[in-house]
Amino acid sequence: MSDGTLGYDVFVSDPFPQTIPGLLPNGEPRLFAPLSTTLIHGRDDAVLVDPPLLTDQAKAVGDWVEAHGKRLTHIFITHGHGDHWFTADLLAKRFGAQVVASADTITQMHGSAAGRGAVWDKAWPGQIPPSPVTAVTVPGNRFTLEGRDLVIVEVGHSDGDDTTVLHVPDLDLVVAGDVIYNGVHQYLGQSMGGGRDAWRQAIETVKALNPRWIVTGHKDKTLDDDAARLLTETREYLDAADELLQKHDTALSFFNAMLERFPNRHLGALTLWSSSQALYNSRKHPEDARRHMLEGWVSVYQP
Ligand SMILES: [Zn+2]
Repeated sequence: MSDGTLGYDVFVSDPFPQTIPGLLPNGEPRLFAPLSTTLIHGRDDAVLVDPPLLTDQAKAVGDWVEAHGKRLTHIFITHGHGDHWFTADLLAKRFGAQVVASADTITQMHGSAAGRGAVWDKAWPGQIPPSPVTAVTVPGNRFTLEGRDLVIVEVGHSDGDDTTVLHVPDLDLVVAGDVIYNGVHQYLGQSMGGGRDAWRQAIETVKALNPRWIVTGHKDKTLDDDAARLLTETREYLDAADELLQKHDTALSFFNAMLERFPNRHLGALTLWSSSQALYNSRKHPEDARRHMLEGWVSVYQP
C-alpha cells in the first residue's frame, strides 16, 4: 500500500494505414482509427488498459511504459475487439504482468482470436503478433493498485458485445474502451437489431458512475477527457445514426450524411464506411448480422 496518490497517462497510437491501397469514397486514405492505451500508476506499480493492435505499436507502448519506471502488475482488457488486446500477451511477457478481463470479455476474446485471419490479418499481414487468450477473471470484478480499487463494470452491448469499462474511483476516472468515443466516428457495424438502444443504456451505466474524466478507446489526441462532453457526444452520434438511417437508402448516402453531420470528427471515416456497409447489407438479410459485420470490414480491405 502506498500513501501516494494515483495518476493516469494515455498513449495514443496514431491513425495507421492498411497494407491494401485505395481510398475511401470521400477520397480519404484508409486509416484505422487511433488507439488509446491508458497507464494508471501509483508510487511504484502501474496497470495498463487496452494494449494496441500491431507489434510495432506494442513496442512503442512498451517503451513508454518502461519510461514511467513502475512495475506493471496487470493489463486490463475492456472488450473483445482485437484492436484493444491482440498485443496483450506480448506486453504481458515483456513486463511479467497478468492479463485481466471479465468472464464474458474473455469469451469474446476467444471469438476474435479465432476470427482474426478473416479480418485483421488481411489488413495487416505479419504485423500482428500471436494472440493467445491468457486473460483471467478477478473475484468480484475488482482488483487493486497499491490498495486502491479498480472496478470492472459490465455494461453489456456497446460497439460490440459484452463490453466493460474500468472505474477508478480515486481518480474520478472511467477507462471506457469503446463504450464512449472522443472525436472519432463510432463503430456501428454490430448495432443492428436493437444494438444502439443497448449502447444508450451502456452510456447511462457509465454516467451513473459520475466520472469527471473518461478515456475512450479511440480518441482524437488533441481533445481533453471531459466526461460530460463525451457522454453527450457519444449519445448524439447514436441518435443521429438512427435519424439518418431512416432518411437514406444506401450505405454511401448514409456515409456522406454522417460525415456532413459530424464535420469535427476528423478521424475514423474507415470505421464509418465499414459500419455503413454492414448496416445496409443487413437490411437485405437481417438474419445474419454477424456475417454482415465481417463483410463490412472485409469490404473496406478491398482496393
Ligand atoms: Zn475499438
